[in-house]
Amino acid sequence: MHLHEFESQFDTVILQRGKTYYQNGHISSLEQTDTGWTAIVEGNNDYVVTLHLAGNGKIITSHCNCPMKANCKHLVAVFYALLDKQSNPITPPQPEDIISVTRHKLEPVVRHAEGAIYLDSTAVKRYFTLADEIMQHANQYAADGDKVNAVLLCKLLLEKLPQLQPCMYKLDKDILAVKNKATMMLDFYATLI
Ligand SMILES: [Zn+2]
Repeated sequence: MHLHEFESQFDTVILQRGKTYYQNGHISSLEQTDTGWTAIVEGNNDYVVTLHLAGNGKIITSHCNCPMKANCKHLVAVFYALLDKQSNPITPPQPEDIISVTRHKLEPVVRHAEGAIYLDSTAVKRYFTLADEIMQHANQYAADGDKVNAVLLCKLLLEKLPQLQPCMYKLDKDILAVKNKATMMLDFYATLI
């Protein structure tokens, strides 16, 4: 089945639910892998959708780790997201926007991790995933010659660390790793400006 034909494979109720899920922003991450895409779809629980695609857009395998495993609204949501992406390739945020976009993403994640640190490993994991992502973006900006935004992204990460540190006693090492890496990158980019 080609990505464009996925609608024919799903029940209309599931299609509608998946579409609503996508439109309401339930996909919290959508990342390209070597063989396809991995997405996290948030609902009562977070579910991971994995797609294996051929170069021509043909879907080789699709999987969701929710109890339905397949033919679920999570898959549908991801299919709609990918179709949108194809017809409307995402342009990277304008340089002046990236900081506010990132701040907007980071703040709730930090707040959530801060409040749920002892109990909720998903919240913690989400923080570290996002921190990694932000550092990758910073690297990308630096590689593209935009050192100013690379520096600002690192600063943003470091600015949020104090909120996490007091409650992260079990994660001292990990949080220190983020701190060290972001500080190192910051120092490095700052010398390039
Ligand atoms: Zn599912």
